[in-house]
Amino acid sequence: MPLAQLDRPLAPGGTIGILGGGQLGRMIAVAAAQLGYRTHVLAPDRESVAAQTASSLTRADYHNKVVLADLAAQCDVVTYEFENIAVAPVEWLAELVPVYPPPKSLAVAQDRVAEKRFVEEVGGRPARWQAVNSREELDAALAAIGTPAVLKTTRFGYDGKGQTRINDAAEADAAWEAIGGPAILEAFVTFSHEFSIILVRGIDGTITSYPPPWNEHRDAILHRSTVPAPAEIARQWTEAAALTGRIADALGHVGVLTCEYFAGADGPVFNEMAPRVHNSGHWTIEGAETSQFANHVRAICGLPLGDTALTAPAVVMENLIGDEWQRWSDLVAAPRTHLHLYGKREARPGRKMGHVTRLER
Ligand code: AMP
Repeated sequence: MPLAQLDRPLAPGGTIGILGGGQLGRMIAVAAAQLGYRTHVLAPDRESVAAQTASSLTRADYHNKVVLADLAAQCDVVTYEFENIAVAPVEWLAELVPVYPPPKSLAVAQDRVAEKRFVEEVGGRPARWQAVNSREELDAALAAIGTPAVLKTTRFGYDGKGQTRINDAAEADAAWEAIGGPAILEAFVTFSHEFSIILVRGIDGTITSYPPPWNEHRDAILHRSTVPAPAEIARQWTEAAALTGRIADALGHVGVLTCEYFAGADGPVFNEMAPRVHNSGHWTIEGAETSQFANHVRAICGLPLGDTALTAPAVVMENLIGDEWQRWSDLVAAPRTHLHLYGKREARPGRKMGHVTRLER
């Protein structure tokens, strides 16, 4: 069966389904509400922070076809807020109701081998890599790529999880023990900065993107995004934005697509893509004329895309990880500072509890 498509703009009052119950779904639901849409979250989690801001919630597994058919009947369009969701139920759902981004974006983004091949086909340059499916293949890949290198699981990696650095071939046993296969071995990239291109593509193929943030990590988790980015990134902006646009076009992507890059000595090195709104775009809520969440909603509802220009000379977003949210009473009192807390009950180490955005003059 062909995939269902939205054939005219969705008028306010319509309902957007959201697969996933985390903070990204929460902020999509807020943006949707501002434009007069209702939202219906489908998530299996006991605690869904998206449901706190959505119009309704179905707490169920994504694989239940009765639940999916019911969601399709209640929604005009469906989106997803994380990429570690099985492709098969999303493809099935996409025959019943328009699903944006399309299932193809999900399939490519959740498999590092498919992702890198796809990016290479449209002229992108990832770090040198090789698929590794056994301990012997890891030796072969280390011989081909050399060290230092990074061994990453093919699927389900996030925030530095599912990956380990190999500094010397003697560390191969321990790395294989920790990661196992299927995996990929990637050359370790020497870079000055990390940045991301947050792009939006409409149903009609119109593309716009935001000025790229400089992304700094701590313990492999995003710590801070700063816009405008330093000159090393600004010089690579055009090339990275053009590549991200080619990826979006080739996928037939609709909605926000985020690609992460290393600013290398010879230009942007592609790291990974997320077929969704992204943590490195949270600064756009106050720091851009139209937030990434509002633009995602506009794109998937067939509305014109909004202006991505900055609202201040400089914008800085910092994540509140684990216990850092306890600084809330200072942050909420600080000038030109916008505090966002995600409503999570328990602050575990490494858990994203909120973020704070500062607009500078
Ligand atoms: P990822 O989950 O693939 O985005 O990796 C998390 C972080 O690990 C990245 O943001 C980088 O800081 C670092 N990293 C991942 N892959 C590489 C690589 N090939 N070379 C250097 N640093 C890397």
